[in-house]
Amino acid sequence: MTPIQALQKYFGYNQFRLSQEAIIANVLNKQDTLVLMPTGGGKSLCYQLPAVLLDGLTIVISPLIALMKDQVDSLNLTGIPAAFLNSSQSPDEQKDIAIQLKNGEIRLLYVAPERLFGADNRMMGFLKTLNVVQIAIDEAHCISQWGHDFRPEYLMLAGLKNEFPNVPVIALTATADKLTQKDILDKLNLHQPAVFISSFNRENITYRVNPKKNSFNQLLTFLDARKDDSGIIYCLSRKSTEALAADLKEEGYAAEAYHAGLNNEVKARNQEAFLKDEIKIIVATIAFGMGINKSNVRYVVHMDLPKNIEGYYQETGRAGRDGLASDALLLYSPGDAIKLRSFATVENNREQSAIMLKKLDDMVNFCQLHACRRQFLMHYFDEPFPDNCGSCDFCLSEFVKFDGTLIAQKALSAVARLKERFGTTYLIDFLRGSKSEKIWADHKLLKTYGAGADISKADWQRYLRELIAQGFLQVSEDGYSSLRLTQKSEAVLRGDLQVELIASQVTDEQEHETQNY
Ligand code: ADP
Ligand code: ZN
Repeated sequence: MTPIQALQKYFGYNQFRLSQEAIIANVLNKQDTLVLMPTGGGKSLCYQLPAVLLDGLTIVISPLIALMKDQVDSLNLTGIPAAFLNSSQSPDEQKDIAIQLKNGEIRLLYVAPERLFGADNRMMGFLKTLNVVQIAIDEAHCISQWGHDFRPEYLMLAGLKNEFPNVPVIALTATADKLTQKDILDKLNLHQPAVFISSFNRENITYRVNPKKNSFNQLLTFLDARKDDSGIIYCLSRKSTEALAADLKEEGYAAEAYHAGLNNEVKARNQEAFLKDEIKIIVATIAFGMGINKSNVRYVVHMDLPKNIEGYYQETGRAGRDGLASDALLLYSPGDAIKLRSFATVENNREQSAIMLKKLDDMVNFCQLHACRRQFLMHYFDEPFPDNCGSCDFCLSEFVKFDGTLIAQKALSAVARLKERFGTTYLIDFLRGSKSEKIWADHKLLKTYGAGADISKADWQRYLRELIAQGFLQVSEDGYSSLRLTQKSEAVLRGDLQVELIASQVTDEQEHETQNY
């Protein structure tokens, strides 16, 4: 059977998506593989289809015991023999599965990483007696401390390649930032891995960020136009998920809460009810969603600021897996950023704290952006995206644009004259000709010093953000967030490229929260 035949026969699809076909060919060729694909992109198929075609056992390592059963059930329904092994099963059940494994009756076995490397190494010993032909590591970013969902037990997977040197490993994740990506490759010891990065653009999702004022009323207005739709509403705290779910119920919405502090029975019940469309809304902390495959989620709302773009993108990505138009709404208040900032400091780990703060800054920049949100997101994931998307709040609204080439030239040449060694704050002081002591004496002699004194600090901040979003400047990851020039900025400095900026009719939002979740 060819891959495309298996796709049709077992999964009922006619075409491969994104780079699925190339990834599958690579695995069938016994090469180690890293797959970066957005949520909803179709990662599971990348190892499930080879599992059908290869003659032997595929081990799937997955962090969430609660979801294994669903995945295994749906595989069995499509006629692919699959099983899982975890602590929720009785010894008899486990023995039964072991027998089936020995008889070669199972194609995919789901296990949690801690189970694989259990204390007595019995599991590993057993698996090594079987004909293992593929190892899939789902949610592979959990191995990285730089990711947003680090799970220490994933570090044990470093030993996998030693135990199964000749078995191709396919690691999959929806987290794409470079640091995490490199970390995954290092920690898993993959052999000359092929890396497949799919476009992270989710065309059918419209991104909106509104200033948070009276969040409950804002939410009700949003929901009013979506009464029959399913959606996920994320809150920062467990308490607020419960309070908000209760208030929504009072307004007549079928909503339930979900967070890690609820007992397993309630969690399972609420999740199930949401999956089966018995309730329309799940109000959750970020504990909800990983691995959940509900295709008709029409919207994702963030009542509070997410900690980083990766998390935000993954959570919003749970909307619109069916490809139909969907909405992502974030209610932003600067107060949230201050709150998160205080959480972001990791004790005794300055390097990690710095990274987390930088990620939070990026998240705030995204919220305060007056430019195409999708373009910002794509650039964040290092994906070229030259034009405005036409389908985010910025692109859909009528901001007044003007020719900002001269302003851009001032900013860019100041960056050049400061030798790309300073961040936004210093640059603005420099451009505005600040008399502060911070400005080095020799900088006061440079040509562009004070060249932007006619523009307010707030406007400069906005313009610089736009220049970054439009790819005319880059924020370095050196820990100092110094601004760097890009290829595009050279063209602006030469006068070959025009820059459009947004006129500053937008007043900086103040925080008015009468009711906050
Ligand atoms: P991910 O793990 O990347 O978030 P999934 O593997 O859960 O995504 O796939 C998302 C959805 O897309 C699933 O409903 C899956 O069945 C569907 N899907 C996967 N591959 C294809 C394809 N080639 N054609 C159509 N639908 C697909
Ligand atoms: Zn846009």
